[in-house]
Amino acid sequence: MSKARASFPVRGDLIGNRFIRASDAPGGANGECVSRCPGDSSDELGRFPYSYASIEAAISSARGASRSWRLLPLAERAERLATLRSRLQAREPELGQAIAREIGKPLWDARHELAFALAQLEAFLSDGMKMIPALEFPADGTLASCEYRPHGVLAVIGPFNLPFQAPLGHIVPALLTGNTVVFKPSEKAPLAGQLLAELFVEAGFPAGVFNLIQGEREVGRRLCVHEGVDGILFTGSYETGNRIKQDTLQQHWKIMALEMGGKNAAIVWEDADLELALKECLVSAFMTAGQRCNSLSRILVHESLLDRFVERFHERSKAFQIGHPLENPFMGPLIEQGAVDRYMKFVGIAGREGAEIVMRGKALELPTAGNYVTPSICVIREPSLEGTRKSVFQQTELLAPSVAVLAVRELEQAIEQANATQFGLVASVFARDRAIFAKAREGLRMGSVHWSRSTVSVSPRLPFGGLKKSGNHFPAGIAATRYCAYPVASLETPEPKFDAAAFPGLNWE
Ligand code: NAD
Repeated sequence: MSKARASFPVRGDLIGNRFIRASDAPGGANGECVSRCPGDSSDELGRFPYSYASIEAAISSARGASRSWRLLPLAERAERLATLRSRLQAREPELGQAIAREIGKPLWDARHELAFALAQLEAFLSDGMKMIPALEFPADGTLASCEYRPHGVLAVIGPFNLPFQAPLGHIVPALLTGNTVVFKPSEKAPLAGQLLAELFVEAGFPAGVFNLIQGEREVGRRLCVHEGVDGILFTGSYETGNRIKQDTLQQHWKIMALEMGGKNAAIVWEDADLELALKECLVSAFMTAGQRCNSLSRILVHESLLDRFVERFHERSKAFQIGHPLENPFMGPLIEQGAVDRYMKFVGIAGREGAEIVMRGKALELPTAGNYVTPSICVIREPSLEGTRKSVFQQTELLAPSVAVLAVRELEQAIEQANATQFGLVASVFARDRAIFAKAREGLRMGSVHWSRSTVSVSPRLPFGGLKKSGNHFPAGIAATRYCAYPVASLETPEPKFDAAAFPGLNWE
């Protein structure tokens, strides 16, 4: 029952403000990224060829634009970005439709992503530079100062699940601070990448400041290891981030900001408002079909609430709508068939590891053939730290609508359980008493800890990032300007006097 939907012109890579089809590059195309709606396999949005030759061309274009962009007054760079914001806002409805179709998130979710991207852009323009304040003070007859400089050419590597928000979270601070950029979108979201590039052209950026190259992982690898790239701003899985780190071991000078996965927890304490906790946990776990870095996958519930929590959570999980992204259900499909297979495999692993399966996630057939699944819920009544640390199910980021509910007795136990995974991105605490939240926040090793809010809550005006396998201590969000620039310290002496006496034995009369 598929409907004919608009296809998009395939423009090619954006190099020096010209769209160049990879098939026209020297050596021709090396492959293509096929954009197909995960909610309707008959809906092909476009085929985007890519070429290894474009990597060199894009880097050299970015290098060529680097000096003049860096020397442009900050106000002028900010003005270009404000125009980009206007273009994004003007095309928001069309972009929302394209994201929904390309990656399968429901329309409301796609629009939520764009609204966040707009708010984030605004926040960078108003507060981003405040994160890297210039310093100036007198010191012993000199003027001590420090100002921030851009690194040069930065590679931005995007994930599939936030195809606008995540790359813009790197690209905007990179450009604001005076870097030029080569962006490689996910091979699962080439259309979003192209649409983003169109906005840069429409916003009138000088040629070479922003460049787009399409491609799969090998294009990403070649881009990251290229000598002409001064830094890598990556959002994606831990496995890929780790790979990039290994591939660039001999290039220690490259700045590398790694925004990676999560295995996020919520603590539902005995005094919690149960209805609120249920709603926030349900949205955290199943929004974007659990395919967010900040999706909730472990709920640590006080034992006195466990049965009531699980019963109501199960009831509500059976009730929400799953469907085609453009029909605006609560939950859309998974990104690809491989993700469905992987999800099914992990539901099986949870059972084999001894978890009690309350709701078994299944592949779902709907009128349009897509990668639809139902959610899964399992319960662990007597969790141990050792069990959690050894559990493949509890240690792996699934990127699927799956949660484990664990019973806990003591707050300390809940905190230890939340910390017992190899990730450290976000946690939420549901308790009426703020002292419980404060104690939990003190003990949790996460980049974000929220009180009575879902794990998927993010403020565009705050830093966002994680510890352990979630990141490398370079938070993105508003703090991203910090990794996009480095400080240069100067001591200026207007009336220099050389004090030879300060150096005994110099013998300089
Ligand atoms: P992925 O790691 O599979 O791919 C991400 C990007 O890396 C793609 O563009 C891919 O082509 C590229 N890539 C693959 N191998 C590469 C290599 N060797 N060198 C250079 N680039 C390479 O991730 P995904 O499935 O697209 O995205 C989902 C992941 O992203 C999840 O783990 C999710 O948690 C994470 N994520 C994190 C954040 C955050 O802010 N922390 C935000 C969104 C998504």
